[in-house]
Amino acid sequence: MKSDVDVIIIGAGAAGLAAAIELQSTDLTFLILEARNRVGGRAHTDQNTFGETSIDLGASWIHSYGPNNVLYNYHNTFNIDSHKNQRHGSIICVDYDGKPFTSETFIQARSIYEHLDSYISYNKNDENDQSIEQVIQSEYERLVPSHGPVKRLVDLLLSGCEQYEAGNFVHLSANQWGVGEGTGSDQWVSSGYGKLLEQIADKHNLPIQLNTLVTKIDTTNNERIVITTMNSTSKISCRRVIITIPLGCLKSETILFEPPLPDWKRQAINHMGLGLMNKLILQFPQHFWDTNARSFLHACNERRGRFRSIICLPPPANILILFVSGIFARELEALTDIEILEHIMKFLRQIFSETIIPDPINYKFTRWAQDPLAYGSYSNFAVHSSRHTIEKLARETSNGRVQWAGEHANIDDGTEDWSYGCVHSAFQSGQRAAKNIRDQLCTS
Ligand SMILES: Cc1cc2nc3c(=O)[nH]c(=O)nc-3n(C[C@H](O)[C@H](O)[C@H](O)COP(=O)(O)OP(=O)(O)OC[C@H]3O[C@@H](n4cnc5c(N)ncnc54)[C@H](O)[C@@H]3O)c2cc1C
Repeated sequence: MKSDVDVIIIGAGAAGLAAAIELQSTDLTFLILEARNRVGGRAHTDQNTFGETSIDLGASWIHSYGPNNVLYNYHNTFNIDSHKNQRHGSIICVDYDGKPFTSETFIQARSIYEHLDSYISYNKNDENDQSIEQVIQSEYERLVPSHGPVKRLVDLLLSGCEQYEAGNFVHLSANQWGVGEGTGSDQWVSSGYGKLLEQIADKHNLPIQLNTLVTKIDTTNNERIVITTMNSTSKISCRRVIITIPLGCLKSETILFEPPLPDWKRQAINHMGLGLMNKLILQFPQHFWDTNARSFLHACNERRGRFRSIICLPPPANILILFVSGIFARELEALTDIEILEHIMKFLRQIFSETIIPDPINYKFTRWAQDPLAYGSYSNFAVHSSRHTIEKLARETSNGRVQWAGEHANIDDGTEDWSYGCVHSAFQSGQRAAKNIRDQLCTS
C-alpha cells in the first residue's frame, strides 16, 4: 500500500474520478481510496442479472445533455452503440385501472397543475420557508375535486416533481421550487451510466485502491493528514484530502474527524435534504404491454405517486423498471423481495387487467437507503436548506487542507446550467475541489 502521497481522494464515484483526472495535469502524487469493489458509486450498471441487457441500478440519464455538459464528450466517444439502443415509443398515461384519461380530464388537470406550479413560485417567502405541501394545501383543496380522475391526474403531475426530487412535498422547500435543475434535455445512457464511468476511469488509468473503507481523517498535525482505513494496520498520510463520500454517509458520520468538523459544516450536513429513489426491475419471458410504449405513467387512488412511472424495455429484453421514491420507497425497502414482488404483480395485474401476466424470470430491487456506502439516493432541498447550504457543504475546512466534493457540493456558478444532485454535477464538484488543491500546491 502506498503510504505517502500529496493528495488522497476518498470515493471513486463521479466526483472522485473527476478530481483525479484534474490532478493528472499536475505533478502531484495522488490516490483514490474506494470502499466498494468497483468504481462509479451511485452510477452502477448491472451487467449480469438480465442476460444481454445492461441495467443501471442508480443513475441512468445524463441530465442537461449538450456540449456544455462535462460528460457530453465522454458519452459521444464511448457510447458507440447508442443509436441502436435508444428508447423509442410514446409515454402512455393511464388511470389507476389502466384506462386512458379523456382529453377533457387532461386539459382540466393540466391547467390546475400549472396554476399550482405558479402559485408555489409566487408564494416564495425568504423570511419564512415552508414545505411545498404547506404552501399549496389551501389552493389544492380549493381547486382539486376530492376524488375522481381529475384529482388522480393532478396528483400524478405533482408526483412527477416529487419523483424528480426523490422526496415528498411535506419535506421539500417551497423557496427552492425549480432551483438547480439545469436546462436542456435528458439523454438515456443505453449501455449504462455506470459503465460510462468505468470507461472514463479506465481511459485515464487512474490510481484507485478498491475495497478500502476510510474510517478516520486526522488533521491535527499541521504537516500531514493521517487517514485510517478499515482492515489495515498501516495509515496513509497526505498533504491534502478530497472527500467525496455521499451526503448520507456524512449524515450517518461514517468517518470520524479528528478534530471534529466545525459546527457550520455539521449544520449544513444536517439541513440538506436527502432523497430516496429505488428501481424495481423485472424481466419477463415475453412482453405483455404495448411495445409502442416507452414508458407508462400511472395515476393512483391511494396516496400520491406510488408506482408512478414504469420504463419499458422492449423485446428481446422484456424488462419493466418501476421507479419508486420518497416515503413509499422507504416503506418498500422495509419489505422482503417476495413481499415487494407480490405488491408489484398485484399492481401490474390491475393495470394490465385484460392480459395474462407471466411471472418474471429475473428481478432485482435496489435499496439505496440501506446501502452503507450511500444511505440514500441523492440530495434535495429540504425546508430551510438553500444554495447557501450547498456552498457550506462544498466549503473547505482545516485551512483548505480538506476539500469537499460530491453531487451535494456543487456550488452555484450563476449559470442557468447549474445543477446539483446528479452525476455531472458531482463531476463538476470534483474538478473544482482538485483545482483548489492545484492552486494551493502548484506554482505554475
Ligand atoms: C436510483 C438512482 C437514480 C438516479 N438517477 C440519476 C440520473 O438519471 N441522472 C443523474 O445524473 N443522476 C442520477 N442519480 C444521482 C447520481 O447517481 C448521483 O448524484 C451521483 O452518482 C453521485 O456521485 P458522487 O461522486 O457524488 O457520489 P457516489 O457516486 O456515491 O461516490 C461516492 C463514493 O464514495 C464511496 N465511499 C463512501 N464511503 C466511503 C468510505 N468511508 N471510504 C471510502 N469510500 C467511501 C462510495 O462507495 C462511492 O463509490 C440517481 C441516483 C440513484 C440512487
